[in-house]
Formats: sequence, C-alpha cells, structure tokens
Amino acid sequence: MQLLALPALSDNYIWVLRDDDGGAVVVDPGQAGPVLEAATAGGFRPTAILLTHHHNDHIGGTAELQAHWPGLPVFAPHDDRIVCAATRVGDGARFTAGGYGFDVIAVPGHTTSHIAFHLADGRESLLFCGDTLFSLGCGRLFEGSAAQMHGALSRLAALPGTTRVCCGHEYTLSNAAFARVVEPDNPALQRRTEEAQAMRQAERPTLPSTIAQELACNPFLRCDQPAVIAAAAQRLGREPDGPVEVFAELRRWKDGFTA
Ligand SMILES: [Zn+2]
Repeated sequence: MQLLALPALSDNYIWVLRDDDGGAVVVDPGQAGPVLEAATAGGFRPTAILLTHHHNDHIGGTAELQAHWPGLPVFAPHDDRIVCAATRVGDGARFTAGGYGFDVIAVPGHTTSHIAFHLADGRESLLFCGDTLFSLGCGRLFEGSAAQMHGALSRLAALPGTTRVCCGHEYTLSNAAFARVVEPDNPALQRRTEEAQAMRQAERPTLPSTIAQELACNPFLRCDQPAVIAAAAQRLGREPDGPVEVFAELRRWKDGFTA
C-alpha cells in the first residue's frame, strides 16, 4: 500500500491509495489532470473514487475520470448537489473499494452531508476527512452548526492515535499561526510548527498528520484543555458554557483571524 498526496488547484490534495497490483483508490479528485498525469507516470489504474462532500474543489474532476475509465465506481454522500453516477453511502455504512474496506462516518458542519472514510485493515488506520479536520485546524462552518462540527471532530478524535489523517488542503502553516495564538505555551504545537515549516521549505506536504499529533496540537480538538478554555474565556469575557461553546468561539475567532 502506498499513499500519495497529489497537489491540485491552489492548495488541495487529491489522495491516492495505491495497492501492490497497480490499482488505486482516488479520494476527492477536484481536478482530473493531476490524477491522469500521476496514473501515467506512476503506472496505476484507478479502481474507485471516494467523495467526501459536494464542493467543486473536491469533486470537479470526477466526470472526466469516469469518462476516461468507464464503469469506475464512485462512492459519495447522499446529496443531490453531487450529480455523477455514484453509490450513495451514509453514516455507519461499510463498503469495499479497490479491495479495501471502508467505514463511513457522518461529519456534518462544513457542509450538512459531509462524510469521512476510515480504512482500518488491522495493520493500518487511515482517515480521509475532506474539509472537516485539518492539521492544526478544522473546516469552516458553511452549512452546519458549531455543535454538529464539534460532535463530528469528537468522533474523528476517538479513532486510534496512529490513524493517518489525510486532509483536503495544505493549510497547516496558516493554521499553526492561529493555534499558537490560542496556545502559545504548547511545546508539541511548537515542534509540529517547526516540522511543518521544514516540510514546506522542502516542498513536501505536511500531511498526513496523525490523530495523536492533532490531539496534542490542534486547538479545535482541545476544547476541554485548560489553556484553550482560558483563551476562549478571555474572548468571551466569561467562562464558556462547556466544550461546544469553546469550540464555537475558537471557530468565530479563527474566521476573523489574519496572521
Ligand atoms: Zn469544502
């Protein structure tokens, strides 16, 4: 098994999970071009496409890939805004694609129908989470509520710590700038920031991250930690009424934040 992050558009990643026989599961192809090029150069053949949510920068290349490889199965959330032929999957669904077994986790918040795909085959735990969980951050609330997104992130946070987290965008350094304002004294965050800076300088992706790393560094997964609660309390001018309110305040704060 080989995991590739293909850069697409300005800062998206198309994830490719390649097996030893040259088959590959493609996740969130916002463009067809990077997949066609990588398939030719790397000698793989897509066996399935997985889509996390309806935004065009995640699905835009699907029709062209289906035309190029007729009959290519697509797995997508229940959402009429995704018009391509697809097997629709929702929370708790289990399916096999390209020989891998995936569990579907509903993660509403960024969009109402957003789903994540979790692969756990005994050796490896992999999460494809689109625009829900980013390294050191999380997706914007375009359609769902703070409570929904907090619930979704809590489910992802409960996956094994070794789970490799394959996010939809390269946002780690800009997220780090915000996270360090929230938690300036978190040494794990300091280390992750330095590591990510070195990776970007070497023109490498900062992803995948791991659940353990995000639990240690990502303020949006740390809404029960004293330092994060204190930062939210300072903004609110009072004690927050539990982790959902901490999360909501962090999200609002980040929406208006410029490094
Ligand atoms: Zn999106």
